[in-house]
Amino acid sequence: MTAVRDCRYSSQVIIRGRIVVTMDGSPIENGAVAVSGNRIVDVGRFDDIKARNTGNTVDVGEQALLPGLINAHCHLDYTCLRGKIPAQKSFADWIKAINAKKSELSPKNYVASITEGFEEAKRFGTTAIANLTAFPELISQVQPPIRTWWFAELIDIRAPERANELADSAIKALKETSSWGLAPHALFTASSNLFRRCENIARRDNALLTTHLAESREEMEMFRHASGPLHEFLNSMGRPMNDCGSKTPLERFLDLIGSGGSPNRPRTINVNRPYLPWVVVHLNELAETDFDLLKRSNSKFHVVHCPRSHNYFGHSPFAFDRLRSLGFNVCLGTDSLASNETLSLFDEMRAFQKNFPRISPEEILQMATVNPARALRCENALGQIRPGFGADLVAVPCFTSTDIFEQILAFHAPVSWMMVNGNVITSLPGSAGC
Ligand SMILES: [Zn+2]
Repeated sequence: MTAVRDCRYSSQVIIRGRIVVTMDGSPIENGAVAVSGNRIVDVGRFDDIKARNTGNTVDVGEQALLPGLINAHCHLDYTCLRGKIPAQKSFADWIKAINAKKSELSPKNYVASITEGFEEAKRFGTTAIANLTAFPELISQVQPPIRTWWFAELIDIRAPERANELADSAIKALKETSSWGLAPHALFTASSNLFRRCENIARRDNALLTTHLAESREEMEMFRHASGPLHEFLNSMGRPMNDCGSKTPLERFLDLIGSGGSPNRPRTINVNRPYLPWVVVHLNELAETDFDLLKRSNSKFHVVHCPRSHNYFGHSPFAFDRLRSLGFNVCLGTDSLASNETLSLFDEMRAFQKNFPRISPEEILQMATVNPARALRCENALGQIRPGFGADLVAVPCFTSTDIFEQILAFHAPVSWMMVNGNVITSLPGSAGC
């Protein structure tokens, strides 16, 4: 691994690679990308780009240039918990185990953990990240080296009467950042009032919204049948459990969002209601009736799947084919290192490929580029190599004549060259550099 240098080319530059994978059409052999400042201004065959553009050439050699990867869901707070929590039989036990570990950590530990997480994500070619933090007050102490959407993860289980205050105090810190959103943690830890407050703020400030939904069997058991270990655990914490015993988590969510969380809502879910574009994480546990609802719903929220965290917990098989055929935009995320081994999206893509070998490597790469860009409302700025898009690029070796997308998914080392927002942040030994 060569020394990391952060710099921006003084003027326009042409970056040449053996192949350019634009995610906007066929890969371009002997291709190049012209970058001016923090924008891509041209892309095509190297000879054509040279003829049309001025600027020095940086040749990344026998490598493919691809759009920077986008992690649609993670919690860098818990980078320091890698390998610390063995898989538990019960999801509720896992929550207890992580809570015990968290109680040992100080704000200083969290700042170090988040910083370490950013470095690891960057090392593996992630140029943009949707990061949930339970500590928005610490954001000012971290300098992200990559594009970051900060989501305040909000839990009001111990003080639901303070839901508004909790959301309002979080946005003070979030507004110091350029891209932010709110994450009421999950239906079982965030009150209806908290969801309602977050939706109101999102409408007012055009902010993003994300939440964990239908993650575990125990969550399904809790909401549908008012039983099981999660129900027992949360009940013992004093959570009001009167929302349990009839509906699935998805039903409850669709019931709640967009309705203002009114307790007087009609029992029948209005599938034609205009929903905010939530980024829904997990959606592992769905009943057949849930699929009927999803089919009838005219709003397709975004879905984030975290393959290795999913494997760690042993959730029910992820219904990728059905969700995709219903028109949902499925993205990949790493979740936190409390339930995963690395923050590499290459590892995540390979794990997905193992579970879904029939899905083409190109489509899998879309789930870490084009699709998350759409979920983060940046489909016209990130996730592809196109003129006018942000200059976020990653170089990955390609030595064989096998399918380029297959080679990209097989990559498992730190990237040797990448650019974020026009800045080269990792350089090859002996390359033109900057
Ligand atoms: Zn998560």
